[in-house]
Amino acid sequence: MLATTDLRGRDYDPATVLPRAEVDVAAAVPKVLPILERVRTEGAAAVLDLGEQFDGVRPPSLRVPAARIAEALEALDPAVRASLEESITRARAVHAAQFPPGSEVELAEGAVVENRWVPVNRVGLYVPGGRAVYPSSVVMNVVPAQAAGVPSLAVASPPQKDFGGLPHPVILAACALLGVDEVYAAGGAQAVAMFAYGVADDAGARVCAPVDMVTGPGNIFVAAAKRALLGTIGIDAEAGPTEIAVLADGTADARWVAADLISQAEHDPMAGSVLITTSPELARDVAAQVEAQVPGSFHEEQIRTALSGPQSGILLVDTLDEALAVADAYAAEHLEVHTVDALATARRVTNAGAVFVGPHSPVPLGDYSSGSNHVLPTGGSARYSSGLNTVSFLRLQQLIRYTETGLKELEPNIASLATAEGLPAHGEAVSLRFR
Ligand code: NAD
Repeated sequence: MLATTDLRGRDYDPATVLPRAEVDVAAAVPKVLPILERVRTEGAAAVLDLGEQFDGVRPPSLRVPAARIAEALEALDPAVRASLEESITRARAVHAAQFPPGSEVELAEGAVVENRWVPVNRVGLYVPGGRAVYPSSVVMNVVPAQAAGVPSLAVASPPQKDFGGLPHPVILAACALLGVDEVYAAGGAQAVAMFAYGVADDAGARVCAPVDMVTGPGNIFVAAAKRALLGTIGIDAEAGPTEIAVLADGTADARWVAADLISQAEHDPMAGSVLITTSPELARDVAAQVEAQVPGSFHEEQIRTALSGPQSGILLVDTLDEALAVADAYAAEHLEVHTVDALATARRVTNAGAVFVGPHSPVPLGDYSSGSNHVLPTGGSARYSSGLNTVSFLRLQQLIRYTETGLKELEPNIASLATAEGLPAHGEAVSLRFR
């Protein structure tokens, strides 16, 4: 099901050799605009109505009561609890180390510019819950926001039919473990609108205060709502279908590489799973391993669709340099490196959301437990953006601290630039201080 393209000895453009699944977020924007408008004008009642319409259940209340969150933690399987706690501990260590130092630059006597990092005041974190539930995404959103020092933080996740209209209990338990007590049973575009506008109940009492920024992965309706509301709120990157590229030579283990390619295909029928290799033997063996491992797997149909799609396949190239050029042009969300000196190869990669180095750093490790973040740029946006991290929730604010001496020294410069720009009032604002 994973087709091989043999590029050896051929001329090709590394930028176009790997197609991607088309996701037309722009086309989904008009579909979500009426949802956003309803939430803006009708508030909490609209969010509850839309939950009933799209998730098939009306939440008993939009805000999840604290008692339900505590119960979910009590009922959590001890093994899942221990695993989540380990993920949280590791993620906290990595994200704390991302907080950048501030700086003060003294340019002359009485002329100081200070760079300081200020957290966003209030954020809304979206945790998907349509086709699958992702308690790991609670960790991946909340931990960097907390590491940045965001003072007010809320989580939204779709109401679940099987759980009386609450978000999935493992999601609630993950919130409890992270100390998050503001959780809403809301999904899709209506959840993003709830965060952006804030909502009140029919009596006018505030249910959810507006946020400054919404982050978190979601389906196309979530992405379209974030795009439409950008400006009212800040957003992180739009998460498209997941992708894994594996860059490997003949030293790679075909069974392991195939398992890793399959693991990401289980997320989404549009997921992309790509092997770029210099070894015809590995290409052959991975294709065979995929045929052997997929039958009987839990999400077999979805995996087959993803691996058979044009966005997935095996590329056989002549040299490691060529393999690196293709990987860089593709800019995968996840890139695994299985080569003879994997670290040296990995350090040559410039475009990838995250790079998984060597045979014992597979993508599922990063999905759950490595300490790194799994909210990563998809669709080639790793060329210009990073995965979710502590800095995503910070703003660089500059304090301009000049004294009379510092300003006086620059007065002629400001006056001449103001004249050159035809804005004499700018120059005058400085000059009059010295008359
Ligand atoms: P979701 O929570 O994103 O979407 C469910 C919501 O979609 C529902 O609550 C509903 O309100 C809305 N919806 C469904 N049909 C609709 C319609 N016809 N019109 C308007 N709204 C509608 O859950 P999902 O659907 O399972 O999608 C989750 C996505 O997030 C997947 O694509 C998954 O791969 C991705 N994901 C990405 C990462 C990452 O880090 N990149 C992590 C986890 C999940």
